[in-house]
Amino acid sequence: MSEHIIALAARMSQIKPSPTLAVNAKAKEMKAAGADILNFSVGEPDIPTPDHVCEAGKQAIDERFTRYTAVPGIPELREAIVKRFKDDHGWEYEADQVQVSCGGKHGLYNMAHALFGPGDEVLIPTPYWVSYPPIITLTGATPVLVPLEEKDDFDLTEENLKKFATSKTKGIILNSPSNPTGAVFSAKALKVVADMALAQGWVVVSDDIYDTIVYGDEPLAHILDIAPELKNQTIISNGVSKSFAMTGWRIGYTLGPKHIIAAMNKIQSQSTSNPSSIAQRAALAAVSGPQDFPVRMKESFLPRRDYIIAELTSIPGVTCVVPKGAFYVFPNLSAYFGKSYDGTVIEGSVDMSAYLLEKSFMATVPGAAFGADEFVRFSFAASMDDIKEGMKRLKVAIANLK
Ligand SMILES: *Cc1c(COP(=O)(O)O)cnc(C)c1O
Repeated sequence: MSEHIIALAARMSQIKPSPTLAVNAKAKEMKAAGADILNFSVGEPDIPTPDHVCEAGKQAIDERFTRYTAVPGIPELREAIVKRFKDDHGWEYEADQVQVSCGGKHGLYNMAHALFGPGDEVLIPTPYWVSYPPIITLTGATPVLVPLEEKDDFDLTEENLKKFATSKTKGIILNSPSNPTGAVFSAKALKVVADMALAQGWVVVSDDIYDTIVYGDEPLAHILDIAPELKNQTIISNGVSKSFAMTGWRIGYTLGPKHIIAAMNKIQSQSTSNPSSIAQRAALAAVSGPQDFPVRMKESFLPRRDYIIAELTSIPGVTCVVPKGAFYVFPNLSAYFGKSYDGTVIEGSVDMSAYLLEKSFMATVPGAAFGADEFVRFSFAASMDDIKEGMKRLKVAIANLK
């Protein structure tokens, strides 16, 4: 063996592995070792992929649809996505304005590399989805965190946005409903974003991955409906991971101006070539088939959301914005920071999540992972029994802090 230890590229010191995937791995490890773990850390639906989608995947294998596909995805799938957007929203896109990628995450990665680089600033409303800052950082651009306040129900405000926008701002990433807060942006907030984007020439990236999971009767506000004239400055990111419980199939898609999608295709052609042919056929069945699955999934989440919110807010000192979409709650547990157990002080969300995992065997994700240390994220895409037991354990754990 030589004594050379190969140094990693400098960029590797700028990013960390996904913290949500890390908690999930630790919880699975403890579970495998026999611990009675309740897992509230997962960011995926707890129901299986629907049968008709799985059948389409099997059929693709049987037909030996197992070769490289077109770089941006099979034309049938891109056409089906165009049709779905037209039917659901009235938005007009063409197939060459669509890229299918290996998950929504990879679409965002392609988008960021096509658009951003050193000197550019990208606004990220915070709490943010864990992958936005590292994806931006890896392009050499600077993520600029725009804090959202619990008292505003995590909505964007004009003051906030103006405070962080500069002449270097190239764009903004919106996520509504949000992971981790479940909050949705109001039409008023989106109008503010649209006006600034139109005035300054920003690109608006709208990550709509949870758009089928919206509670209540109010339709989800979308920036393209509020400002249709923003279409050639807007990128839409979506996919089937959440809406059709297809996280493992790895299919997401991006819609946007032709020249941006073409640039993203160049990147994809030199990296993954294309997403899995089999998974694309399954996604085609999801996008073009009946749309009752996401509706049923959402309806099944609602009682769980209501229960977990009622339980959390019954704990003294705990506040929690009621999520209007997605399947996460993001309670503020900071009233208990500074308290201790077995001589260990809970300094922040990382300690709180570690305490809940070690002493109460429940996996959660510390708010610090989302840029908001006062909070802890619980996914309620878990069984009602687990949620009931988890809330019992949480109350005991909190009461044991001195
Ligand atoms: C899950 C998720 C995605 C996309 O996930 P993929 O599995 O890569 O499709 C994108 N944005 C947010 C906010 C998510 O939670």
